[in-house]
Amino acid sequence: MNTFYLWTIGCQMNTADSDRLAAALEQMGMAPVEKAAEADVIVLNSCVVRQGAEDKVVGNLGWMAPLKKEQPDRILALMGCMVGPKSDDLARRFPYVDVFMRPQEFEPLLEKVGERMGVDWEGCVGPLTPVRPDVTCHVPIIHGCDLMCTFCIIPYRRGRQVSRPVAEVAQEVEILASRGVKEVTLLGQTVDAYGHDLPDTPSLADLFTRLNDIDGIERIRFLTSHPKFMTQEIVQAVADLPKVCEHINLPVQAGDDGILDEMRRQYSRRDYIELVGRIRETMPEVAINTDIIVGFPGETEEQFQQTLDLLAELRLDKVHCAAYSTRPGTIASRTMEDAVPDSEKTSRRQRVDKLQEQIQTEMNAELVGSYEEILVEGRQRGKWQGRTRSNKLVFFEDEAYHLGNLVTVKIERSSPWSLQGTLAVEAKFSAS
Ligand code: SF4
Repeated sequence: MNTFYLWTIGCQMNTADSDRLAAALEQMGMAPVEKAAEADVIVLNSCVVRQGAEDKVVGNLGWMAPLKKEQPDRILALMGCMVGPKSDDLARRFPYVDVFMRPQEFEPLLEKVGERMGVDWEGCVGPLTPVRPDVTCHVPIIHGCDLMCTFCIIPYRRGRQVSRPVAEVAQEVEILASRGVKEVTLLGQTVDAYGHDLPDTPSLADLFTRLNDIDGIERIRFLTSHPKFMTQEIVQAVADLPKVCEHINLPVQAGDDGILDEMRRQYSRRDYIELVGRIRETMPEVAINTDIIVGFPGETEEQFQQTLDLLAELRLDKVHCAAYSTRPGTIASRTMEDAVPDSEKTSRRQRVDKLQEQIQTEMNAELVGSYEEILVEGRQRGKWQGRTRSNKLVFFEDEAYHLGNLVTVKIERSSPWSLQGTLAVEAKFSAS
């Protein structure tokens, strides 16, 4: 029992869960491998938010069956949102899978691996902090969600909101800083509801203030926010604390009040417009991203037009648009008919994408000639790549080594998706 292979699909929360499981297995003395066929332990970390993701998991489970047959003592585990409170049905469909684990429930696998290795896993596994993190790293601060949006399966799979205490998150970020991490992204399904469930109800702003003091960390990001929980205290903390980036992911999902009600989003179109106005008034340089679902059950052309009008009016920095698909187990799947034809959903998604491409073309063109602070995250096709504080992707060429540095880049060219520039001679923000 020496090697493991981890395959992950889905959101940043799943990636963070996989990093933590890998940290636990490495602390038990195992090494990661690139190919499932070379591994003693194979873990598939699943997602069911979209049908396409679930289909990929099922496909991978299919091609894992011969690997298990060829080496029966190999441990095969299915983790993540595909695993609900009861796994009987999954066990019937995939009898060759040894372990089913809900999100963040690593114990069943660690127990099994410990038994095979003849070690007490609890004795060797400490804090689940990634062992070899990149320059940027995700840190889950809330597990689960207390809301019940009618289209969403997450509360059923990840359970109710549980926030991690401030001291525990701060300790993890200090360890990450000592391992070379320069930027942390705090993760939660409703990250701005952080602390509401903790005894002394610290807020996300309180957590920002604590993390802002940690040496070595240059930037703090957070996602995903819910409009209902975005208080002025949080907005002001983003504006005031130098390490917290002026970048807010604030899904609106739809621009029509009737659809927002059907989705049970708990805010109106007017509430959202006012919130964006308040954030921009506090921080004119802020970047706001959003998510949209088109083709929600019963969405008429007029209602969809309300979404397009909202996006044209607000001119947000980035929009992630998805066509609605029914997820078994959700309120919408039980009570609403998925009546908008697929071709119409595709057409609406394309209209959102086209509008947003135009907006991003114009917004990014305005940055040409400006000087931007970039955290260098890596290299791609001979160029250094990093992000502005507002999370825009920037490329520049330079012979020197810059990984992990904060540098100043003069923006010279733009596209809807990225910016190109040259390193400014006076590197105003170089990290030590
Ligand atoms: S806020 Fe709504 S969409 Fe987001 S995880 Fe919770 S239930 Fe799902």
